[in-house]
Amino acid sequence: MMQNIKPSSSDTTLLLRVLRIARPFKNLFWWSIALSILITPFSIAQPFIVQQIVDQHIVPGIKEGVLMLSLLYIVVLLINVVMKYFFIYITAKLGQNVIKDLRTKVYKHVITLKSRYFDTTPIGTSTTRTINDIEAINNVFAQGVITITADIITLLAVTGIMLYTSWRLTLIVFITMPFMILATYIFKEKVKISYQKVRTQIANMNAFLQERISGMKTVQIFNAEKKESLAFREINRKYTSANLDNVFYYAIFFPFVELVSSVALALMIWLGAEGYLEDKVSFGALVAFPLYLNLLFRPIRFLADKFNTMQMGLVAAERVFKLLDTKDFIEDKGELVVDRFHGKVVFKNVSFAYDDENYVLKNLSFQINPGEKLAIVGSTGSGKSTIINILSRFYDIQDGKIQIDDQDIHAYTLQSLRDRIGIVLQDVFLFHGTVYENITLMDSSISLDRVKEAAEIIGADVYIDNLPGGYDFLITERGSNLSVGQRQLISFVRALVFDPDILILDEATSSIDTETEMVIQHAIEKLIEKRTSIIIAHRLSTIRNVDQIIVLDKGEIVERGNHEALLENENGHYKDLYEMQFADEIA
Ligand code: ATP
Ligand code: MG
Repeated sequence: MMQNIKPSSSDTTLLLRVLRIARPFKNLFWWSIALSILITPFSIAQPFIVQQIVDQHIVPGIKEGVLMLSLLYIVVLLINVVMKYFFIYITAKLGQNVIKDLRTKVYKHVITLKSRYFDTTPIGTSTTRTINDIEAINNVFAQGVITITADIITLLAVTGIMLYTSWRLTLIVFITMPFMILATYIFKEKVKISYQKVRTQIANMNAFLQERISGMKTVQIFNAEKKESLAFREINRKYTSANLDNVFYYAIFFPFVELVSSVALALMIWLGAEGYLEDKVSFGALVAFPLYLNLLFRPIRFLADKFNTMQMGLVAAERVFKLLDTKDFIEDKGELVVDRFHGKVVFKNVSFAYDDENYVLKNLSFQINPGEKLAIVGSTGSGKSTIINILSRFYDIQDGKIQIDDQDIHAYTLQSLRDRIGIVLQDVFLFHGTVYENITLMDSSISLDRVKEAAEIIGADVYIDNLPGGYDFLITERGSNLSVGQRQLISFVRALVFDPDILILDEATSSIDTETEMVIQHAIEKLIEKRTSIIIAHRLSTIRNVDQIIVLDKGEIVERGNHEALLENENGHYKDLYEMQFADEIA
């Protein structure tokens, strides 16, 4: 994947938008601009003072005043140093503040995007936008606009004072300018391309590492380490070679600039000395000019680099803005806010496709009365988990109607809708944090006592108490230091503490031992007690007592009824499924 180096909207438009996000930090911005202007006279004053000392004192042999001028030289130098400190610090602070705000904004934006966005965007992309790209935007401030402005002001001022001091010497120096400009231009273009390569290779390497490290177990199980190492070696080689290309241009450019400035210096001394001998150039000017030359060439040397960095920042900015402009939200136009649901759920001829084309649920109708339990069974991929996604409006349906308490689910605000529906997902996701934090999801209004009470009802208390530290046990990323059963129990407690009016339980497919199965069975019974529940079951033992069971096949309801009724249907799907499991259990 090649990254665009040229932003598609114009640079100025982008730049203005980037500058606009600095608006809350106007003060810092104007201070840094002001400093970049104020600092100029102090940085060019030094050669000027040297020239005065030579011309007014040394050449005519006048001693008094030399000390004063020398002291002035030191004072100017000190002021210069202090101002530079503030300039660097304030510019950096501005950049950091801007990107701190921007990161929050992007993060807030990303977490409200709808599920479809995450289905189609690699995780790495969202992370890159919030971290790397925003870091690059920092450079627009730290190395970009303001420092470039400062450099250009210095260049103009130096040229001015050089012309004032001696237009002859200035012209001599400027003979070398076309070479300098040409070299800078070529360098800028070349480095731009090589940076592009470096960035592409970094992206490749990140993608490779991220996936392999997350899937390290699979790599090791299949003994694929060697093959993966070879693949990594190749990627690593490309990355190094891209970097070396980049270094190559720097290695040529910087010595070339030295060369040009030395030639300029040599020309100046040669022709300048002749001018001095012919009384056309003062001796002081001859001494001061090498110093001016230094002030002139130093910014030029870095200007090309700074332009590139800024350009990269703008490219990154464009990508971040594009993300911020993505209005991929689930519409939240409902106005109904309720404290509780009675728990009546109705599906009327519901059809749904994730991609608007391949229907995953077809013409689904059922009704659950308050407090009733519905079980959904069916083979893998039949659309069971999808029902959760559409009831909580993670995706919107194409056809039909879903109602809760006789109101279309679109009539409720998203917050109100999701607040009162509890979901236990098929694959439990735990975050890095304590057991307590994972149960309350950082909602500090839920007390530890409440959590303990819920754990007791579920029957998870013994298991949690057995963990080192109990509720303070630190769960690692994705819950990798817990067993599947433990993770499941924690997710049940999580659902129970929120005390939802409608509970949806998507049972995990993984098989567990008989003892744990009994614990989980008990937990589920407690969880669905006294509330409308939808249970997506893989172990049919779980659902013997529910009010109705629907059997789903390729997104359609093929059978419905209670356990006994379904078993009576000789050629029914349910009977088949049941006998298959039964056969497993006695085998
Ligand atoms: P299992 O018993 O294995 O959990 P399921 O009945 O829960 O299966 P669903 O997860 O509802 O199955 O998936 C139903 C169909 O929808 C599958 O064909 C799947 O490929 C598709 N599907 C599921 N999630 C998405 C998604 N986010 N984007 C596109 N298609 C999806
Ligand atoms: Mg599922």
